[in-house]
Amino acid sequence: MNQKPLAIEICETGRYIYSKGLAPGKSGNISARSHDTVAITPSGMSLGCLNPEDVVMVDIGGKILAGRKKPSSELQLHLDVYQKRDDVQGIVHTHSPYATGFALAGKMIERLEGFGERKTPFLKMVKYAPPGTSELAISVGNGLKEEDSVILKDHGLVATGKNLFEAALLAEFVEETAKTQYISRVLMNMEF
Ligand SMILES: [Zn+2]
Repeated sequence: MNQKPLAIEICETGRYIYSKGLAPGKSGNISARSHDTVAITPSGMSLGCLNPEDVVMVDIGGKILAGRKKPSSELQLHLDVYQKRDDVQGIVHTHSPYATGFALAGKMIERLEGFGERKTPFLKMVKYAPPGTSELAISVGNGLKEEDSVILKDHGLVATGKNLFEAALLAEFVEETAKTQYISRVLMNMEF
């Protein structure tokens, strides 16, 4: 088991995500996997100022291996994705403002270049389920079988990657994509 690097990865990527405005306040949760060990952010702490001892280590079934803090309330969501996607080693869940604005409005975000080979016109949006429930975990896990990111109706987004930083970059790209589309749609409706 390789605990220290995973915990440091969580702290560094947490600071990156927070600094980009993707996880304001104490929102958002992230995890990284190495073999059967998953490191996840604690419940109720800002992603911007985590220390390695705040990170909770669990096995792939959710049993706590190390850490004094309570794991994120979305732990099950993270585990469900890892169980369904062997290639995923990092997961980011945020309520970043533009992507979440689309999720709340029920408006689809167009898929731009950079989202890989899957050629549907819009990013996938999974139906609403209350935060922290196994219903949400199952629907996100299923949604991510064929996608690397999904929008959660009335909630936020989840992005995955072959490592945690890649997942963070995808979450950032989804947010930038939503922001650009918001700006362009507003401008198209303006009279100059
Ligand atoms: Zn959430």
